[in-house]
Amino acid sequence: MELQERLKEVWSRIAAAARDAGRAEPAVQLVAVSKTFEADTIRLAIDAGQRIFGENRVQESQGKWPGLKAETPGIELHLIGPLQSNKAAEAVALFDVIETVDREKIARALAEEMKRQAKVVRLYVQVNTGLEPQKAGIAPDDTAAFVRFCRDELGLAIEGLMCIPPADENPGPHFALLAKLAEKCAVKKLSMGMSGDYETAIAFGATSVRVGSAIFGAR
Ligand SMILES: *Cc1c(COP(=O)(O)O)cnc(C)c1O
Repeated sequence: MELQERLKEVWSRIAAAARDAGRAEPAVQLVAVSKTFEADTIRLAIDAGQRIFGENRVQESQGKWPGLKAETPGIELHLIGPLQSNKAAEAVALFDVIETVDREKIARALAEEMKRQAKVVRLYVQVNTGLEPQKAGIAPDDTAAFVRFCRDELGLAIEGLMCIPPADENPGPHFALLAKLAEKCAVKKLSMGMSGDYETAIAFGATSVRVGSAIFGAR
């Protein structure tokens, strides 16, 4: 199957999962994860109509996205990988949404950069729902206080929560936990679900799913 056919299949499976969950189709957005793929490959997805993309590295993104964004107005680029505070300036300049805010230092660096660049980047807090030591994200128990800190101390509007469940576990309970935390924090958006489990995530209330290999192929 060609990339554009795989993309269309993902769109239709998202629509079907949204319908099954009794939700309006536009309530679930696709973030097409294009990490490791070249601009020419990404352009095929753009030509098919995809506009929201996710990347996990700032430096890699700087090599391909300024050009792609200049070619096509209306691209929305999400950072879905860990961010170091020394890359905050570059991240604020290039990305429209940063999904991986997970500690005070990075939240402060982003607040400063947004002010300096007079640019608003939409922000999500990453939650380490499985408390995995090797994984980024704030602990579930600390999430509400961290979201409050971002809002009250730094004036950052946190739009959503994001999680990556442990690879070897049933993701359902992790998606349920993220949805519960979002409600507790009065945060509206939920970024959860990848190629292997995006339909499950939609059933648990995902407002965006991050799908890479099911569209672009194996990395
Ligand atoms: C790579 C990546 C994805 C996409 O994973 P696939 O299994 O290829 O769909 C989603 N979220 C994050 C944070 C990623 O790094």
